[in-house]
Amino acid sequence: MFNATRACELLVGLGAVKVLEVVEPLVGRLEITVESIVDAPVCPNCGERAWVKDRPVVELVDLTCFGRPVTLRWRKHRFCCPRRWCRQGSWTHEDPRIAAPRLSVTDRAGRWATRQVGRNGRAVSDVAAELGADWHAINDAVIAYGTALLDADQTRVGAVAALGVDEVLFARLGRWRTQAWSTSITDVTSGQLLDVIEGRSSAGLCAWLAAMPVTWRDAIAWAVLDLSGPWRLAFDTMLPDAGQVADPFHLIKLANQRLDEVRRRVQQDTLGHRGRKDDPLYRSRRLLTRADERLDDKGREKLLGLLDAGDPRGEVRTAWHAKETVRGIYDIDDPTVAAEFIDRLGHDLQDESCPPEVRQLGRTITKWRHQIAAWHRARVSNGPTEAINNLIKRVKRVAFGFRRFAHYRVRALLYAGRPNWALLATVTPR
Ligand SMILES: [Zn+2]
Repeated sequence: MFNATRACELLVGLGAVKVLEVVEPLVGRLEITVESIVDAPVCPNCGERAWVKDRPVVELVDLTCFGRPVTLRWRKHRFCCPRRWCRQGSWTHEDPRIAAPRLSVTDRAGRWATRQVGRNGRAVSDVAAELGADWHAINDAVIAYGTALLDADQTRVGAVAALGVDEVLFARLGRWRTQAWSTSITDVTSGQLLDVIEGRSSAGLCAWLAAMPVTWRDAIAWAVLDLSGPWRLAFDTMLPDAGQVADPFHLIKLANQRLDEVRRRVQQDTLGHRGRKDDPLYRSRRLLTRADERLDDKGREKLLGLLDAGDPRGEVRTAWHAKETVRGIYDIDDPTVAAEFIDRLGHDLQDESCPPEVRQLGRTITKWRHQIAAWHRARVSNGPTEAINNLIKRVKRVAFGFRRFAHYRVRALLYAGRPNWALLATVTPR
């Protein structure tokens, strides 16, 4: 015989609950009222039989049912101890299989939403719309379950042979849109995001490294950094035995920036105004920063013609050659030859005949010559970090920017940090 009550309980699938009511308050939306089966409750203080004081109803966002958003109305039990001498106040029956305390989604909906947002990179608003839920309900659940997963995943940060750090803008805050920075820490060999810390100071990175086991720090052979002092100081302090490697991408970017500065200054000096679309130097700007091997004969001819017209003292041409020579560092195979080349390049670019911006580049190269030359032995770069930063950018774009660093960190690590998602089923949100 068909048992309607049993069929309903099976569909709702929450185990030891009674289904009291299923209604459709709006077309395409279900409301299911349940209560826990609680027998013979006892007072946790005196161990005697407790009384039911109250039956508050909590509304929870649940998974959709046959394509319809569901509100689970959980008729809870609030108990009290009837004995006057007992100090126990009232308490509410909880069941973590239905929902974690304080969250306004069911346990199963919370885990599902965490996977959708954290692993699949969906927007919170998108998942909330699918579940017919409020944005905050879903975001709170993703942060709670996601944090629990990251805390539980003890093997996520394994042994690292080459560590990379990079700064990432995570938000613009307040009335003045102040830039808020974060530091991403990466295993550049495997391309895994290890952690994200607030700010971009040496002290923050030092504190993070200090919190890691000594054996873990000792195993790091190479530390990859852009040309910034704070990271160098942190590595000098906390990873004194690791070889420091200047990231090729950043050095080339710096050479291009200096070239750009020379072009804009010469533009101003010769024509007295900022670049306009018919000015030769302005028209050369993309050809200048393009890699030389990506210029065809026609492109090169055009570039040289534009420089003849707009660069009377050859300053832009010098900066262009400097940039291409810096790129040439990475064509050299032999580490000893490369180290000599870098030394000489740093020296040559500081020659008095060079534009001041190029001399500045020469000073930077001389200051970082060991780190730049180390690349030829280490052959590691922040390339994987850049790939991770692109994943983080995707997270930021999907989220339309973050306000709170803690949320940004959890979302970035869930998406780009490769946690063990199998653990999600086992964790308990705090
Ligand atoms: Zn009691």
